Amino acid sequence: MPVTVPWALTRTYDIGSSPENCLAEDDLIKALRDVAIIAHVDHGKTTLVDQMLRAARVFRDNQVMGERVLDSNDLERERGITILSKICAVEWRDTKINILDTPGHSDFGGEVERVLRMADAALLLVDAAEGPMPQTRFVLRKAFAANLTPVVVINKCDRPERRVSEVLDEVMEMFIDVTASGDDSVLDFPVIYASAKNGWATLDMDLALSGEARGVEPLLDAIVDLVESPRVRHEGPLSMLVSAVEYDDFVGRIAVGRVDGRVVRAGEEVLLMRSDGSQLACIPKQIQTYTGLKRHNVDAVMPGDIAALVGLEGVDIGDSVTSPDDPRPVEGVKVDEPTVAMLFRANDSPFRGREGKQVTNRQVRDRLMREVRANVAMRVLETETPDTMEVRGRGVLHLGILVETMCREGFEFTVSRPRVILRSGPSGEKLEPIEVALVDVPESFSGKVIELLCARRGELVRMDNREGSLVRLELQIPARGLIGVRTRLLNATSGEAVLHHQFLEYGPWRGNLPRRSTGAMVSGFEGEVTSYAVDQLQGRGTMFVGPTDRVYEGMVVGEHVRDEDIVVNVCKKRQLTNMRAASADRKLVLTPPLRMSVEESLEYIGDDELLEVTPKSLRLRKKILTKKDRKRVERYGE
Ligand code: GDP
Repeated sequence: MPVTVPWALTRTYDIGSSPENCLAEDDLIKALRDVAIIAHVDHGKTTLVDQMLRAARVFRDNQVMGERVLDSNDLERERGITILSKICAVEWRDTKINILDTPGHSDFGGEVERVLRMADAALLLVDAAEGPMPQTRFVLRKAFAANLTPVVVINKCDRPERRVSEVLDEVMEMFIDVTASGDDSVLDFPVIYASAKNGWATLDMDLALSGEARGVEPLLDAIVDLVESPRVRHEGPLSMLVSAVEYDDFVGRIAVGRVDGRVVRAGEEVLLMRSDGSQLACIPKQIQTYTGLKRHNVDAVMPGDIAALVGLEGVDIGDSVTSPDDPRPVEGVKVDEPTVAMLFRANDSPFRGREGKQVTNRQVRDRLMREVRANVAMRVLETETPDTMEVRGRGVLHLGILVETMCREGFEFTVSRPRVILRSGPSGEKLEPIEVALVDVPESFSGKVIELLCARRGELVRMDNREGSLVRLELQIPARGLIGVRTRLLNATSGEAVLHHQFLEYGPWRGNLPRRSTGAMVSGFEGEVTSYAVDQLQGRGTMFVGPTDRVYEGMVVGEHVRDEDIVVNVCKKRQLTNMRAASADRKLVLTPPLRMSVEESLEYIGDDELLEVTPKSLRLRKKILTKKDRKRVERYGE
């Protein structure tokens, strides 16, 4: 029985299940394009997608779907959705273009790969002034690995600071670098020059530079003309890798993925093959495809199109949806292995339970176990110490996000200094995670930055002059070397350096690093911090606490300028009996304490320290709280 597939806004197509309709189906697949957009934040992705939607008249010609016409205010309101919506679709020249957003920040769980698996082409969006960024490089590498056809869009060509041809050169260099190929054919990519803000795109660089280009239609044309239709089967059994899962209170779980093999029809039973090996037959409550910024119910979804199967209870990312009569699981995306580990346990400081609601080891453990179910790149392992769990993730930022989330949820816990996970190479050599670091800094500080990072085993790969007196340094540096570097970098550059970094690869161990060259000021007492004590101590280093903060014995209250820990009394009160009151009464000038963020704290703490996290506070502390015990352990071991 023929069914109607309204896949675009203005058209409907009839397809049937009988073999003579195969050709029609094939034609329909030819009228599809699945394109992933890769862009660094702020390079103009949202603005460009808006322009594409506008040019394809998504907001006007949608009477078929029975929607009202949107005016520009609605468009503005829709922008909120554009930002959140990971997938949208436009119709252009009888072709449906699915536009898939890839995460612009670092990727933690193979999310990038899963999105790329649904696409055949990658639209690489690069700011005409800023040029390609390291995160972009990371995603691009994955796009090449997934065999996507690249289309480069140099955006913001209207900017006065634009460096259009240099940026194009940088993109080419990046392509050569990323593909590690001596083959010039990787440089045969189409380039579109655009100003998303001013609503134009053109293949003609001169036209772009003159600012006389009009309309973003050339971009849509390029996608239709230069990108292939989906590389999917249109025969054989259904197979769909679940690339994303959403949840809705009313309809439950929604599985999103690209259909391969056979049309998915509403009301039809499918077999869910879970990544853990279990199977479940179920009937989706509804099936939907994307049109504009929304999803709509449809009777069937074509191979090559992106489907949302609504109401699939128990479905998870990485599962396969297939036919019950000929089940074929799709191989899931291999998730990158973790590079950094940290120990978690419930808070056991003297202030335990004062600020959080979830404070027991059991609660912390359950929470971590829950996390790894959704966060596919994270692992939780038991350790030899009871109640201490090792959590492994894709870098300090990845773990830092978990720490922050748990802190917002009301947990109290401690974490240890992050440690990189080493591996062995083919001939048993020691390998460690190496990252690419980009530092933008005024030229006058570049020497200091290079010195600092090279001391941490970084290698300078390139150095470019940027607009103004800025230079951009690119280094390859062990992940170890970056732990703790941010604060130092800021100190060395009067706060001017901007650091981006991103995992690159496992490489040979680069040797030992210099240790933190400062000690800690450790509180010897429990109590309330006094202005008097801070005034006395602040000359000896940087304080992490200020008057009225509560501290306990063993808490790290500041950084000592000298390379040794000292025990201090930050609760000391002025002697009221002291008769030489004149000096005591002088107005105290206190430097505000340094309050570090989660990520900064994780990058800062030493091996014998812990970070105590509660919903209200971040405290650094010694693992062993009393000086006597620390001395004993130093001398005789634990
Ligand atoms: P996203 O983070 O990649 O989604 O970037 P947005 O689309 O939100 O744009 C980031 C900023 O860049 C916004 O302030 C935009 O107005 C601006 N922008 C976007 N495209 C252009 C462009 O073509 N030219 C200029 N000059 N600014 C742009």
